[in-house]
Amino acid sequence: MKKEDFAFSESKDCNPNRLIVDLSAIGKNVERLKQYLPPRMRMMAILKANAYGTNYAVLGNYLKEAGIDIVGAANLIEALFFKKIGIQQEIFILHTYPPEAAWVVENGFVVAVDDADLIEALQTEAKKQQKILKVHLKVETGMGRFGCTPKEAVELSSMIKQSDHLFLEGLSTHFSCADREEKEDFTYEQYTAFCKVLRLLRNEGIDPIYRHAANSSGAIRFDLPECNMVRIGLALYGIEPDQRSKELVALEPCLSLLSRIVKISTYEKGHPIGYGSTYMVQRDKEKIAVIPIGYFDGIHQQYREASFLIHGKKAPIVGKICMDYIMCDVTDIPEAKMGDEVLIFGKDSYGNEISPQFFADLGGCDVRQFICCLGPRIKRVLRSERRPVVSSAV
Ligand SMILES: *Cc1c(COP(=O)(O)O)cnc(C)c1O
Repeated sequence: MKKEDFAFSESKDCNPNRLIVDLSAIGKNVERLKQYLPPRMRMMAILKANAYGTNYAVLGNYLKEAGIDIVGAANLIEALFFKKIGIQQEIFILHTYPPEAAWVVENGFVVAVDDADLIEALQTEAKKQQKILKVHLKVETGMGRFGCTPKEAVELSSMIKQSDHLFLEGLSTHFSCADREEKEDFTYEQYTAFCKVLRLLRNEGIDPIYRHAANSSGAIRFDLPECNMVRIGLALYGIEPDQRSKELVALEPCLSLLSRIVKISTYEKGHPIGYGSTYMVQRDKEKIAVIPIGYFDGIHQQYREASFLIHGKKAPIVGKICMDYIMCDVTDIPEAKMGDEVLIFGKDSYGNEISPQFFADLGGCDVRQFICCLGPRIKRVLRSERRPVVSSAV
């Protein structure tokens, strides 16, 4: 055993809570999406929210090897983190605003712009710093968050065109319902509105190099002949954004969340368990295990109907989820003992699988919310093939 194997060896790791991120699976997802999408599509990897709760630092560099040349940050702060840890690809900021102009220009981020004040601020700053900044004009077509109106687009793009310090590299919009079967028409309406703006710009002699509208669902489910770039978040992590996408492209799950049993107690029938005594032990000699993960770690109260897997068997959560602990019933798992591994989601060695989507459905929330809310106390263990390449607390 080499020294670094020892350092990353899980059995020597004192943190019971580990999110295993399988980088090889992410690499495969990039491959499969590239094979599936038309070859003209440039793929931006969305690494916001700590790469959906995984680890943006390791992922950024890994994706470079997988041929991704641009990564997306939600905001300036994230983009600065990306840069600080040495992500070498272009960094695209999904939204910025005038007070951030100096940092944006200084660091050479590529940014979405959608109003005159922002364009003005970036132009002034770029001139001051003697730089040329790449910008993508963002048009509002139905998301109702950011973006100029289709009408303003021509004026704003000429404003950018006239600046010696700004380069209009792209035109973008954002689909709000691409994962909704019943709202397919609406996504086509958004796309049509986007194409109309593109035509108006072309009539003015302005032809942005990159045109992008789609997130994971949009990219997988819609034919978008005018687009040559997609912004992929969820699908990278091997989670299909909707049922139809699942039928269209096979993705590899890459996440498993593990913990360990830290205590087992036996109680008699009628004994209360947890805050509010919401659960009473149902039978004599019930074995209750304590798992050291709680709502601070992102296992919120709304998931309390879940079961964990111990030795390949189901251990249902009992009582309320605490901040740091969850109790579960292991009476029917006689071999369960202190220190044993607990699978919260992912695959176990018995061939069982629990998906993050299962938790999202239980909690009535978006699966992105479930995975990106996994807390900072959980150690992220990033593995390539079967060896861990890096392991870090976030
Ligand atoms: C988060 C985000 C994406 C990625 O969405 P997924 O559905 O997770 O692929 C793409 N574009 C924008 C503007 C976003 O905010």
